[in-house]
Amino acid sequence: MIHHHPDNNLLLEYASGSLNWAHSLVVAAHIQLCPQCAAQLKLLNGVGGNLLASATPTPSLVCEEGDVFSKLMQRIDQQPETADTRCPDSDRGTRPVRDPIFASVPPVVRKLLADNPVLQWRRLSKGLKEARLKTGQSEREVSFHRIAPGSKVAEHDHRGREITMVLYGSFSDADGVYTPGDFLVREPGEVHRPTATQDQECLCLSVVEAPVALTGLIGKIVNPFLSIKPQ
Ligand SMILES: [Zn+2]
Repeated sequence: MIHHHPDNNLLLEYASGSLNWAHSLVVAAHIQLCPQCAAQLKLLNGVGGNLLASATPTPSLVCEEGDVFSKLMQRIDQQPETADTRCPDSDRGTRPVRDPIFASVPPVVRKLLADNPVLQWRRLSKGLKEARLKTGQSEREVSFHRIAPGSKVAEHDHRGREITMVLYGSFSDADGVYTPGDFLVREPGEVHRPTATQDQECLCLSVVEAPVALTGLIGKIVNPFLSIKPQ
């Protein structure tokens, strides 16, 4: 059951085609799993269409249903091939297609995986790994995070907005429990400490605009090395 959804402003920006590519990707992934937001998007498209019909001629603000999504898919298609053919089976990377944690990701994420056939995981802290994705856009970093069962991620705050969607497993923080499909927005300055549930690993898709900052002593050591690298 999905409990956390993008707000209407984000859905409207998505519907109108004015939302940036990286955030559109996460909204599209959520909509593919969330009938409630899919219905809301239809409604927003309908409202936009009615407004336009009763208004003086202006440039179209609201796209036809499915238009934003098809453009998003086209952009993913247009990205250059990134297959790593040098050393396909080494431990330099893992192939998501063979990893059951990716078995139920929504189609838009599956498409992105086709362009990132080998994922390079790097350990950010005990129990937390990150794989950055090549997306062809240069403003925001798109990545997967996987948290080991029961692991507590080091407390961190956000210098830029971070959008996260749970793809597999679940995690919790002081505000609640998040399960597959849940969509979270963290604004700059918010501090939180996610913990994966004990029974399984947790996989999230996230988009960040600026590096996260670990708080406390470890942060003083690690933060200078944290940077976003849109690819
Ligand atoms: Zn929703």
